[in-house]
Amino acid sequence: MSRTLPNIIITGTPGTGKTSHCELLAERTGLKHISVNDVVKDRECHEGWDDEYQSWIVDEDKLLDAIEEEVKQGGCIIDWHACDLFPKSWIDLVVVLRVDTATLYDRLTARKYPEVKLQENIDSEIMEVLLQEAKESYNEEIVVELQSVNADEMESNVERIEQWFEQWKKNNAP
Ligand code: ADP
Ligand code: MN
Repeated sequence: MSRTLPNIIITGTPGTGKTSHCELLAERTGLKHISVNDVVKDRECHEGWDDEYQSWIVDEDKLLDAIEEEVKQGGCIIDWHACDLFPKSWIDLVVVLRVDTATLYDRLTARKYPEVKLQENIDSEIMEVLLQEAKESYNEEIVVELQSVNADEMESNVERIEQWFEQWKKNNAP
């Protein structure tokens, strides 16, 4: 499949900095930020609300249908705390953001996450669930793990992805 612009997934446990990275990257590159949270909510790609978890129960088929056309055209940054549902052929780079437990705890507490969700997300980060999911779902060469604890790291992460983007365009020039 040929795209004139690449598609990037920015994934990681909730609170690792996906949305912050996507917004900065979109601003600097003109790539389109697809907030899967918003798509699920606005286009009703769900089977209702889970009260205990305070989140939508996602209908993955509906979600894929909702974004397929846009993503297939290329130039998208997908912002979501899962990555195994997206077809391999759609994706050129998978960034997995990581933070230490204390940082994650503070960020999720500030968001007033319900206790069960807080603990589950912290366990998930410790167990490297998203990193494993990314490595199992895509070729390992396109999976990059980046720390996102402070502003300097966010800056260098975004610069690094921008450089990757420039190189991709050179390599894929018509
Ligand atoms: P996610 O989209 O993965 O849930 P957010 O981008 O919403 O994460 O970030 C969660 C919180 O952590 C926000 O308050 C954000 O400002 C902060 N944050 C995220 N990344 C960093 C970072 N690299 N340095 C400092 N604060 C960060
Ligand atoms: Mn987010």
